[in-house]
Amino acid sequence: MVLLRGAGRGRHQVHLTVLILATTTGYQIRSFGEAAEALGVRLLFGSDRCDQLDDPWWDGAIPIRFHEPRRSADAIASAAGARDLRGVIAVGDRPTLIAALVAERLRLPGNPPAAAMASRNKVTTRHALRQAGLRTPAFLSIPKTADIERLAPRIAFPSVVKPLALSGSRGVVRVDNAAELRAAVERLNAILEAPDVRAERDAAHDMIVIESFIPGREYAVEGLLTDGRFRPLAIFDKPDPLDGPFFEETIYVTPSRASDATQAHIIDAIARAADALGLRHGPVHAECRVNDEGVWVLEVAARPIGGLCSKALRFAGPPCISLEELLLRHAIGEDVSAFAREAEASAVMMIPIPRRGLYRGVDGLDAARAVPGVDDIRITAKPEAVVVPLPEGRSYLGFIFAHACDAADAERAVREAHVRLHFQIDRELPVI
Ligand code: ADP
Ligand code: CA
Repeated sequence: MVLLRGAGRGRHQVHLTVLILATTTGYQIRSFGEAAEALGVRLLFGSDRCDQLDDPWWDGAIPIRFHEPRRSADAIASAAGARDLRGVIAVGDRPTLIAALVAERLRLPGNPPAAAMASRNKVTTRHALRQAGLRTPAFLSIPKTADIERLAPRIAFPSVVKPLALSGSRGVVRVDNAAELRAAVERLNAILEAPDVRAERDAAHDMIVIESFIPGREYAVEGLLTDGRFRPLAIFDKPDPLDGPFFEETIYVTPSRASDATQAHIIDAIARAADALGLRHGPVHAECRVNDEGVWVLEVAARPIGGLCSKALRFAGPPCISLEELLLRHAIGEDVSAFAREAEASAVMMIPIPRRGLYRGVDGLDAARAVPGVDDIRITAKPEAVVVPLPEGRSYLGFIFAHACDAADAERAVREAHVRLHFQIDRELPVI
C-alpha cells in the first residue's frame, strides 16, 4: 500500500503529489513533511530502508534498491500510477539517478539520467568540466588494485587521493610524497571494502582517483535549477583552512564575505559546471575552491545540502520558510523567485569527531546554548557508540547553529559554543 502524507489543510485543492527519494530518515524528511502539510501537498516516499524505518513519515514508503535503478524507477512509476505526481526530489547522492529516471519516465521536470550519473561520479565530473573548458585539476583514475609503486613516478605532489562516489570527504586524503600516496591508497582501499560501502554494489567503488591538490579558499553553493537556468540561493564560506591531510567540513557561514567579483565568478563557474554535467532542474549543492588562478569547481551534486545543515537556511517570502518548503514549492511548479535568503547571517558547525573512541556524553551544553546568537545545538552522536573520525568516519558529533547581524559574529558564535562543549570519548574496550 502506498500511504500518502500531508494532505491536510491544503491550499492546493487537487492533491498534488511530490515524490521524495532518500536513504535516510530524520530532520530533513520531517521538514519536508511539515512543509507538505503547510502547503497541502502530498508526499510519496521511496527508500531502500523500508524495513528499518521507524519514522512515521515513512509508513508505506515504496521499497526501492539504489543498485537497481531501472527496476526501482519502474516500481515507483507504477506505484505513482494515477496520482497527480508533479515532481521528484532526491535527498542524498544515491537517489539522484532514480529520481532522474522517474522524471524521465513520467515526463516530469528533472535531470537527464546521464547528468545525474555524471554528477555523482568524481571522474565523469572531471571529464565533463574539463571538456567544457572549466578549470580542472590534473587527474588520474585507476583501479583500486593498481600497482601504486609503478604509478608513483607519474604523480606530482601535493595530490589528493579520493573514492569516486562517496561523500562527506570520506576517504579523501592529501598526499605530499610517494610514501604518503601508498599509505593513503591502502587506507582508501580498506574504506572501499567496508561493509556499508560494499553493500552499495557500485562499480565506482572499484576505482580511485588521484588529482592534483588545489590550494585556495573553499566555498559551498546552494542553488536551484529551473529548466536549465541556475539561481544561487546561498554562497557559504568555509572559513577553516582545508589543507588536509583530511578535509573536515566544520563551519559553513553565509552570506559570503568574498568580494562581489569573486562571488560572481563562483556563481558563473557553478552555473557552467551544472550545465556541463547536463543538470537541468531541481536543487543543486556545489563546492569550489578559489585561488589566484580563478574558480575550481570540485563538484556539483543534484540534491540539496544534507540533513541538519539545511536548518542554516531560511527564506523570507513572506512567509519565512525552510529550504525544504522552498524545494517543495519549486517541485510543484511554483515560481519561487520571490523567496530570498533571510537578511541575517547564518552559520552552522558540523562538530568534528576529534578521535576514535566510545562516545559517552557531552558537558557544557547549557553554557554553549547560552552563547549569544546560538539558536540550536543538536548532538547526534549516540551515547555508548563508537565514533570514528575522517577519513574512515562518516558522521559528526552534532551541529551548532547561529544567527547574527553579520557573518563574522555568526561564525564567532558557533566557535564560542564549540569551545564550551566538552565531549567525553573513551578508549574502546578491548575485545576479549
Ligand atoms: P566528497 O564528495 O566526499 O565531499 P570532494 O571531492 O568534495 O568529496 O572532496 C572533499 C573535500 O576534500 C573538499 O571539500 C576539499 O576540501 C578537499 N578536496 C577534494 N579534492 C581536492 C583537490 N583536488 N584539491 C584540494 N582539496 C581537495
Ligand atoms: Ca564534497
